Amino acid sequence: MSETIHYHSTRGGSPAVTIGQAITAGLAPDGGLYVPEALPQLDPAAFDPHGTLADSAATLLAPFFAGDALAAELPAICAEALDLHTPLRPLAYGNANVLELFHGPTAAFKDVGARFLAACMRRLPRADARPLTILVATSGDTGAAVAAAFHRQPNVRVVILYPDGLVSPRQAHQLGCFGDNVAALRVAGRFDDCQRMVKAALNDAGLQAAVPLSSANSISLGRLLPQMSYYAHAALGWWRGHGTPLNVIVPTGNLGNAMACLWVRAIGLPIGEVQLACNANATLPEFFSGADYRPRDAVATLANAMDVGAPSNFERLRWTFPDPAMLRALLQAHSVDDTAIRHTIAHHARDHDEVFCPHTATAVHRLDRLRAAGDTADWTVVATAHPAKFEGVVEPLIGHPLAVPAALASMLARSASAEPLAATDAALHDWLTR
Ligand SMILES: *Cc1c(COP(=O)(O)O)cnc(C)c1O
Repeated sequence: MSETIHYHSTRGGSPAVTIGQAITAGLAPDGGLYVPEALPQLDPAAFDPHGTLADSAATLLAPFFAGDALAAELPAICAEALDLHTPLRPLAYGNANVLELFHGPTAAFKDVGARFLAACMRRLPRADARPLTILVATSGDTGAAVAAAFHRQPNVRVVILYPDGLVSPRQAHQLGCFGDNVAALRVAGRFDDCQRMVKAALNDAGLQAAVPLSSANSISLGRLLPQMSYYAHAALGWWRGHGTPLNVIVPTGNLGNAMACLWVRAIGLPIGEVQLACNANATLPEFFSGADYRPRDAVATLANAMDVGAPSNFERLRWTFPDPAMLRALLQAHSVDDTAIRHTIAHHARDHDEVFCPHTATAVHRLDRLRAAGDTADWTVVATAHPAKFEGVVEPLIGHPLAVPAALASMLARSASAEPLAATDAALHDWLTR
């Protein structure tokens, strides 16, 4: 076993910890995000060419867990959490693939990280015998994935905060349908408010003493690291078959999914070009076109899980690539507005019999623009959710009802409820301590 790998804060003001401690804490004590002291390097030859996603994940993540008590359990954690299909499927029109990440229990890629985090947390020792409250701010999909992963787990409670009226009806139903140890709070604000409230609660030492808290947001390494596994698995399969790296277009909001992809490239696996497809929230596209980084309030779009004005993983991106000029040279980001999302969904259903969710459609639109500009490279678009989660947007555009995946259908058949909450840090504090 290699040397222990330590994690420190992007803000540099927190003691170094092991992966288990970083996962337990969620956010570093100085408010920064945990990052490894250095990214390990991996050789494609280390991976079993016939392995499953879980096998690839166990190989990929071993150096990230080195020296922690969880390291011995990593293969079991991967087998339990990553028993999911993430197929790389060719699209019907030239030189393009789709990496489908929506075959988990809640029909969005958030299942991968949430299930892995839950499998780690089940095995992590806790000094405190009181129940652990896992706070999760969601723009729509994370909350359900985390709830599904922790539902009925002993000594854990999940508290979901989501922006009231800004998630799809089916997303809202999913968030409210668990009950038991899961509470859904519909916040009178935007996703950024929910995210700010969760961060404030986690940084509140007095509150933490009264109510042991942890987070399950995309800032958690317990979610970010497993998201690397589907990129590694797909890229290695592609590279073995074609001898070229996988070029990827990632629908992006908080930058968790794209950050995982970039780390896979940074550790030496065959990811080629990476482009970020954003919705009308243009914080990242503006930064990448040369402007200063300017976080702002989010605007509501059809791709609601990407309605983020202050991407929380930006601090990790900056840590990974500290020189802004180099960062801008490495990556592109483009904004796709609602008109283009609608057009893309309708056009691909009509001409190619492919139905995409509004988030995936931002990446598909980016691919269409590349093709229109004469680009002929192989590209893979990342499909982050099943279109049936957004039937209110998608069905009128394609003109027919969508089949609902079985897991989603069974959640929709249950009753659902959520409590209202004001969008203030004090309101969450009061709710948690009442
Ligand atoms: C969360 C989410 C995204 C954005 O992912 P980030 O990791 O926040 O960039 C995109 N699409 C869907 C369907 C999502 O649920």
